[in-house]
Amino acid sequence: MSAYDELLERLKDIDMIGQIGGLLGWDQEVLMPPKAAALRAEQLAWASKAGHMRLTDPRIGELLEELEASEELDDVQAANIRLARESYDKATKLPTEFVAEMAKHRSESLVSWTEARAKDDFSIFRDNLAKSIDLARQKADYLGFDELRYDALLDIYETGLTVARLDPLFAGLRDSVAPLIKAVVESENRPDMSWVEGNSWAQSGQEALSQGVTEAIGFDFDAGRRDVSTHPFCGGTNPDDVRWTTRYSESDPFGSLYGSMHETGHGTYEQGRRRDLDFQPAGEANGLGVHESQSRMWENQVGRSREFCEWVLPLWQQHFPENMEGVSAKALWQAVNLVEPSLIRVEADEATYNLHIMIRYEIEKRLIAGDLEVDDLPDAWDDMYEKFLGIRAPNRALGVLQDIHWSMGAFGYFPTYTLGNLYAAQLLAAAREDLPEHDEQIRRGEFAPLLAWMREHVHQRGSILEPADLIEEATGSPPSPDAFVEYLQDKVERLYGVTA
Ligand code: ZN
Repeated sequence: MSAYDELLERLKDIDMIGQIGGLLGWDQEVLMPPKAAALRAEQLAWASKAGHMRLTDPRIGELLEELEASEELDDVQAANIRLARESYDKATKLPTEFVAEMAKHRSESLVSWTEARAKDDFSIFRDNLAKSIDLARQKADYLGFDELRYDALLDIYETGLTVARLDPLFAGLRDSVAPLIKAVVESENRPDMSWVEGNSWAQSGQEALSQGVTEAIGFDFDAGRRDVSTHPFCGGTNPDDVRWTTRYSESDPFGSLYGSMHETGHGTYEQGRRRDLDFQPAGEANGLGVHESQSRMWENQVGRSREFCEWVLPLWQQHFPENMEGVSAKALWQAVNLVEPSLIRVEADEATYNLHIMIRYEIEKRLIAGDLEVDDLPDAWDDMYEKFLGIRAPNRALGVLQDIHWSMGAFGYFPTYTLGNLYAAQLLAAAREDLPEHDEQIRRGEFAPLLAWMREHVHQRGSILEPADLIEEATGSPPSPDAFVEYLQDKVERLYGVTA
């Protein structure tokens, strides 16, 4: 067997273990009886250890060295070798005792964060957070970096991402989006939300509505499922088995519809992968930022457009005939685009969302560099919310304690959310060049042309290129905030009649 075939065989084994772990994780969120929790934790830990052992097998290192010296590689082979090298290095550079220490600390830290948030008392979480930051710094040192420690952490979630690349993206957003939001707030033009807030929205109607929409977009329910879970997610194993979840609230009909469109974006990406690259890293979906571009494109760029609201209104009327009486497509469009600075990131609208991320990015950068002390963090957080969003949290639970990420040691993760928004706008702008009828197609509920464009330029390209290169190949220019800023300015002007 050639070295390349042996490498692929070993990677397939590792992928299989990951797929089985994914199914166990799905079952844990969706179906598992509560008493199985401890057993499931053990099963998942076993699967992750089994995968880690295979990934860190020195034989993989030997194969990689041999293959890296070979000259005649096509782009898929080169990508498989590059991606296997990244995983192998990330897995072997961290000493086993350090990985165990991080896992142990993560469990403790999750407990203290949960308690601190419930009791609205930052001091309960303070020491664990300080240690999480210290461990993140050590992790960066083990992984290595050229300029900044924080770069090593960013690279974990999006290959090649650095502060040097992110700073200009966030600066562009800060300079353009913050004034735009200020102008909206000062205009006091609030859309009519009374028909939304004053009605009750039956779960059965919401289920039928989101089912109709996700089928129309092109999610294949013979190769996937929709279920209910507390924390919505998209998982599964392979293009033949993609599973996503949503949740319902009878007082808010938008959460389940837009959440479903979001997960459908992730799901159609997974279903659109190249089948001849099953079990190979090159065939997998690209980094978190690109994944998030697919979800946010359907959720926001398409789902909150005027044309989509015109197409979907009859579905709303069919499933909620009484509630929708007298509600026009324009009123629906205005309501789903409410722009309102708020304290909680996960509830933020499309316009303010990236400022929540920008604040976390600036804070993480300073924490990891040692320019911000943990004791000064809660006030620094509130000050930045006041500066950029004009609001201040009345307590720590609604402020610095709201996100789970830092308790899990996930420093460097937040920026991928904003990358997703920027990539979504840039990809859709490029797709429009090839699809001159785009707006009319959306108005008629013809989503296949847009999905086909994404299949060709994003889904089928897997991880053959690094994320930033994929975006450049698909759109003709490197990642930039311009398309998103333009999209938002145009939309806010049409909705609120303001410019900044
Ligand atoms: Zn997502």
